[in-house]
Amino acid sequence: MPILVMKFGGTSVASLERIRHAAGLVSREVENGHEVIVIVSAMSGKTNELVGWVEETSRFYDAREYDAVVSSGEQVTAGLMALTLQEMEIPARSWAGWQVPVQTDSAHAAARIEDIETGNITAKFAEGMKVAVVAGFQGISPEGRVTTLGRGGSDTTAVAFAAAFGAERCDIYTDVDGVYTTDPRITSKARKLDRIAFEEMLELASLGARVLQTRSVELAMRYNVRLRVLSTFGSNDDNAGTLVCAEEDIMEKNVVAGVAFSRDEAEMTLLSVADRPGIAAAIFGPLATAGVNVDMIVQNISEDGRTDMTFSLPVNQVARARQAMEAVKASGEVNYGRLVTDEDVAKVSVVGIGMRSHAGVASRMFAALRDESINIKVISTSEIKISVLIDRKYLELAVQALHEAFELSDAA
Ligand code: ADP
Ligand code: ASP
Ligand code: MG
Repeated sequence: MPILVMKFGGTSVASLERIRHAAGLVSREVENGHEVIVIVSAMSGKTNELVGWVEETSRFYDAREYDAVVSSGEQVTAGLMALTLQEMEIPARSWAGWQVPVQTDSAHAAARIEDIETGNITAKFAEGMKVAVVAGFQGISPEGRVTTLGRGGSDTTAVAFAAAFGAERCDIYTDVDGVYTTDPRITSKARKLDRIAFEEMLELASLGARVLQTRSVELAMRYNVRLRVLSTFGSNDDNAGTLVCAEEDIMEKNVVAGVAFSRDEAEMTLLSVADRPGIAAAIFGPLATAGVNVDMIVQNISEDGRTDMTFSLPVNQVARARQAMEAVKASGEVNYGRLVTDEDVAKVSVVGIGMRSHAGVASRMFAALRDESINIKVISTSEIKISVLIDRKYLELAVQALHEAFELSDAA
């Protein structure tokens, strides 16, 4: 029997009534002749609440205990979903990550799936079970402890199951009816895309579009999983939603596919750093060791052997970064004047595979921001994206201006 993976995000399982609605969608697929693997998130808001409890209890918490706490939300919804399906007389059983098991590495709070054991679930399907409900976002480490996959990780659980079981498709049910040209919460002009290329989705996700976790797109691309994003509350016919697929399968091609943004960024500048070989390693090595995810980096030209070094990072890592930079100064490894921090910045990016062959995207982007008098602090580019760092207060305006400038509202 063909296997289908259906993943329901937080808002789709936010109440018992919504779980019943989601179970109804599952039952339709069972009636269509599928065996279904359902991946569930925690009820919306639950994971945030659990994270909050951990942070309130322990400032520098032990990540193993963080995982023990924050993985619990998915266990609740998995059990409730299985019970709901059973009430509808559909043979269903739930699994926590460790029961499958979903083997991960030991990187607590950001673990990667290494292997999914398919034997247990396959045996149950053979016995007549129709739906396996699996708690998303969690696995088990080689040490036998519960791990979690990073925020938004249930998307990755879903794609990994689709790959492991050779599923016909992986449907990600969420609170929007597909992938849009930008977050529809920022502009009502955002347009739903029928298809988007893996590479573009990967960039959008890693640049802040949280509709899919980056790692889930990576896995779908690697294992060629048919990945679809659609709404739990709208139509779910075969053409609904957005299909994430290979570039060759897309007819409609814009130079820019979408605009992504990341709101909670910070910028740090080391003023008057001695410019000598090894200086970048001396700064960014200790930052990496401290677990700081440095993103954009700019080094100014030097004068009299000294330069300024600017980098961006997530705003919640500023304290750690500052500590690391004060330590390298105190130890004499890096000699700099002052450390200046701006915690009120955001990153806006335009993404599109068309940029490979079209010049002028950067200048169009900069002109659009200039027309709104938005100052650009840092720029970074890759083959298919351009990102800028700006003051956070201009974020919405910048996204809207870029959406307009690249004519994303108008169907191609
Ligand atoms: P779930 O709980 O179902 O996993 P998420 O909140 O993680 O849902 O992801 C869905 C949200 O992603 C949407 O409500 C939307 O605000 C946001 N989003 C950001 N960028 C985009 C985009 N380009 N297209 C669609 N949604 C987006
Ligand atoms: N519940 C987890 C989170 O909020 C995982 C997920 O929903 O994808 O991050
Ligand atoms: Mg999500």
